[in-house]
Amino acid sequence: MNILNRLVVACVPAVPKPIVRRFANRYIAGETLDEAVRVVRQLNEQGMMATLDVLGEDITTHEEATAAVVESEQVLHRITSEKLNANLSVKLTSIGLKLDKSFCLDNTKRIVQTARSLDNFVRIDMEDSTCTSDTIDIYRSLSKEMKNVGIVLQAYMRRSAADTAKLIPAKSNIRLCKGIYNESPEIAFKEHDEINRNYVSLLRTMLEGKCYVGIATHDTQLVESALQLIREMNLQHHEYEFQMLLGVRKDLRDSIVRAGHRMRIYVPFGKDWYGYSIRRFKENPQVAGQVFRSIVFPWNSHS
Ligand SMILES: Cc1cc2nc3c(=O)[nH]c(=O)nc-3n(C[C@H](O)[C@H](O)[C@H](O)COP(=O)(O)OP(=O)(O)OC[C@H]3O[C@@H](n4cnc5c(N)ncnc54)[C@H](O)[C@@H]3O)c2cc1C
Repeated sequence: MNILNRLVVACVPAVPKPIVRRFANRYIAGETLDEAVRVVRQLNEQGMMATLDVLGEDITTHEEATAAVVESEQVLHRITSEKLNANLSVKLTSIGLKLDKSFCLDNTKRIVQTARSLDNFVRIDMEDSTCTSDTIDIYRSLSKEMKNVGIVLQAYMRRSAADTAKLIPAKSNIRLCKGIYNESPEIAFKEHDEINRNYVSLLRTMLEGKCYVGIATHDTQLVESALQLIREMNLQHHEYEFQMLLGVRKDLRDSIVRAGHRMRIYVPFGKDWYGYSIRRFKENPQVAGQVFRSIVFPWNSHS
């Protein structure tokens, strides 16, 4: 990232919320479940699956965690009643990971059991490195008794090769992404090329280990490497899927769909859209730059 981009990104938290909201619209389905259902239906009509994420991290009480569990269950019931092709992604900090691990395990179990009763699936998102071990523990404990649960590994984490080795014997369902949190070089690869090399190596290991992988990336180079691996291993379309975030790289997304591969779009929605949007802007200084220009030149902004 060049100095100007870094400056722009640093300024984003100072941007008034209404302006952030205008630019956030491309990344979030809205504040309500009704809005999210509309977006998922459109994606389904275009041949894509979805995973719904109720935005909300950093809860501080057991009551908030329980409310988030109820909300997740409502999403699962709504997916069924609307006959959507979608599952649920959940962040364990939103259901109590930082309050009490066994409380969080119970909460996650409740959501996964509800999903199982509806013949649906729950993906446990991966958060920052303070959560990695606990998240994997909870996933492994649940996946022993229920098959409708998956996990995420991050290619920037140095530990991910060892984690992959632990998850392969159970043929885990793994989403592989680069990782979005700012981790230290002691525990994470920092350079684009080394992260990409690790991504491809992990992907090969997971696919050879017969894991179902959600190949989550918008990086053309990684998509091409993944397609090459898929050809090399002669995998059928139902043995993997691609995944992308709502509003990102529609060109690449559509070309993957046109080629007949499964594509699942991550569809976040909810009242707590602000933190999520700021993370997306930090990832993409071009959009952050548009936000910045709309403040400096409000008469000349385009969303
Ligand atoms: C479905 C899905 C689920 C994810 N789940 C997790 C998770 O559980 N835990 C976690 O840590 N991370 C998660 N991520 C985030 C992922 O780690 C980040 O998206 C990552 O930082 C970006 O990696 P990339 O593979 O897109 O490659 P990059 O090299 O970052 O991006 C490749 C290209 O994609 C485009 N691009 C990327 N991001 C954006 C953006 N926000 N806006 C516009 N264009 C963009 C740019 O053109 C960029 O050049 C998830 C991502 C996806 C797609």
